Amino acid sequence: MEIYLAKTQGFCAGVSFAINIVEQALHKYGAPLYVYHEIVHNTYVVNGFRDRGVIFVEDLTDVPEGERVIFSAHGVPPFVIQMARQRKLRYVDATCPLVTKVHHEAIKFSRGHHPIILIGHKGHQELIGTAGYVDPRLLSIIENEDDIDRLDIDPTAPVAYITQTTLSIDETAILIEKLRKKFPHLIGPPRSDLCYATQNRQDAVKELAQLCDIIIICGSPNSSNSNRLRETGKKQGVPSYIIDTAQELDLELLCDKHKVGISSGASVPRIMVDQLVGRIQSRFPDTQVHTFENPERNIIFALPAI
Ligand code: SF4
Repeated sequence: MEIYLAKTQGFCAGVSFAINIVEQALHKYGAPLYVYHEIVHNTYVVNGFRDRGVIFVEDLTDVPEGERVIFSAHGVPPFVIQMARQRKLRYVDATCPLVTKVHHEAIKFSRGHHPIILIGHKGHQELIGTAGYVDPRLLSIIENEDDIDRLDIDPTAPVAYITQTTLSIDETAILIEKLRKKFPHLIGPPRSDLCYATQNRQDAVKELAQLCDIIIICGSPNSSNSNRLRETGKKQGVPSYIIDTAQELDLELLCDKHKVGISSGASVPRIMVDQLVGRIQSRFPDTQVHTFENPERNIIFALPAI
């Protein structure tokens, strides 16, 4: 048995940024500390903070007046910030700077009074946050090609689009192409909203698919980018599975396999991958592990004052 670890996987700069903000706030102010929504979509990370006195809330009215609250990496709509001010909460914004960039595009396109098409997964926290920065009279949210067919927007006028940062690179390209055909004056962001971490992790899974006969993705069920990694492997024709913990993997799946590809979502700590590799090695003792140099090592976002 051989294991190949994806070249780019695990924590991205935005996730490290958000987690470090919570770490520093805990260090400086102690518990209890409130966080609006899961700081990142990973069970291990969230439970670890919960054990140290972090209280995750989905409603700011659950935060006592005057307390400190941190907004998650996925970003929040403006009404959440207004409510925090009204309740005199001391808030720290841990929104990934690459999500904030999309918020700025939403504001810019709204000021231009263009109809704005937001591509993303309805109900995902990032999409809820970004949608809040678009003038509601201009907003249409789409997830797939059928949604584009249903759009009732003047095709002769300029129409803008923005996207969630963690979508499938290939599927988003198809959707934008279809939008371009329907709306010849389509305007997009100067650089793709899909972030570098999404691009690199999906590319790395495609590379694994060339080498491996099964792919395992470490990631929580509510993690958008982790689910896209599993889909990427599957679309390359390789059986691909997503697991939240090493114990979740059914080792029988590996019995007739020789090359196992392993990757992890942008919110997944390295320990999850190490535990998975250890579990496979304890069942298949001669397993060799192959690693590649990670090109992302130097990407870091500076922390705000806390
Ligand atoms: S996946 Fe991309 S947008 Fe999301 S936190 Fe990481 S760097 Fe930021």
